[in-house]
Amino acid sequence: MRWGIIGASDIAETRVIPAIRQNLHQIAIVYSTSPERASDYATKSNIPKFTTDLSELLSTDIDAVYISSTNEKHYVQAMAAIESGKHLLCEKPIAMSLEEAKKMIEAAKAANLVFATNHHVRVAGSHQKVRSLIEKGVLGTVVSARINHAVALPDRLKGWRLTDASAGAGVVLDIVVHDVDTLRYIVGSNISQVAGVTNSFGLGNESIEDTAMVIYKFENGVLATSHESFVVTQNVTSLEVHGTDASIYIENAMTQDPVAKVFIRDSSGYREIEIEDRENMYVKAVRQFAASVDGLGTPFASGDDGLRSLQGALAVLESVKTKKVIEL
Ligand code: NDP
Repeated sequence: MRWGIIGASDIAETRVIPAIRQNLHQIAIVYSTSPERASDYATKSNIPKFTTDLSELLSTDIDAVYISSTNEKHYVQAMAAIESGKHLLCEKPIAMSLEEAKKMIEAAKAANLVFATNHHVRVAGSHQKVRSLIEKGVLGTVVSARINHAVALPDRLKGWRLTDASAGAGVVLDIVVHDVDTLRYIVGSNISQVAGVTNSFGLGNESIEDTAMVIYKFENGVLATSHESFVVTQNVTSLEVHGTDASIYIENAMTQDPVAKVFIRDSSGYREIEIEDRENMYVKAVRQFAASVDGLGTPFASGDDGLRSLQGALAVLESVKTKKVIEL
């Protein structure tokens, strides 16, 4: 498969370009809005061609694009890629509004193109194992779940995320989207109600939230909470799922690496569950994306999953603004 990279981003450089290459796919061209960045990026990432003209990238001989520009650009770039007949792996949040997200999904569907969202957390072997235990009924009736995703934002990412509301800054559009996706996947249902509170501990602009706490009710009755932060330096992230028969605890649950440890407590006591699949989530996601393009299955997270996670995050922002519980 041949790829065009839209956005000279950190996530492409550190995770997705290596994952594409580990799948033995080719990267033909990179697009940036800045000629210097495009050229420097192509050199350091060993990409043969660069451009500041999106239509040049889209008229290159490529099968798919990976979009990891700032969030407000995803919609326009995705629509152009779809119009050019390219399959699409798009970063979260897939757009800035539900209207945009819906148009992207409809356009890809009408053009018979694969549209995947890069929600990597659900791809982890640990999380897939927990989901399969839940499906087998090991937990009994699932009652509740809890995500702790409070981290320290790395220095190299302290840019638009902390300052630029028009680019989708803030912990809600950055991290809550991942947590909504992970909760939806783990509990196997969509959100019906959400309430959120946020605060800014001064990492970025005062008006940009760097910490959030959210309560959810899912359509299947499961209750959940999630906690996100950019300013917590010593935490180990976690995910708990509690059922009537057993509870599961995932340590290091919300990372970019497949390092989570999974524990269960049931009537036989407390023990660790072995996770056989420790494969890099981004490598797996790219492989599954390519298989979907070949008609063999579907991506781990679809465009519709991206729409649902955006919907959850936007509802959190609405709840913060109105101080009300939002019905979805
Ligand atoms: P970056 O800040 O690294 O890149 C985003 C854009 O910022 C680039 O496309 C580039 O624009 C511009 N840019 C990059 N470096 C500079 C610079 N030095 N000066 C000015 N502008 C610059 O963002 P991230 O890689 O952190 O995030 C990109 C997207 O990926 C977001 O949508 C984010 O939510 C998502 N993401 C997903 C993750 C995941 O694991 N699924 C993890 C991290 C991010 P241009 O292309 O025009 O050069």
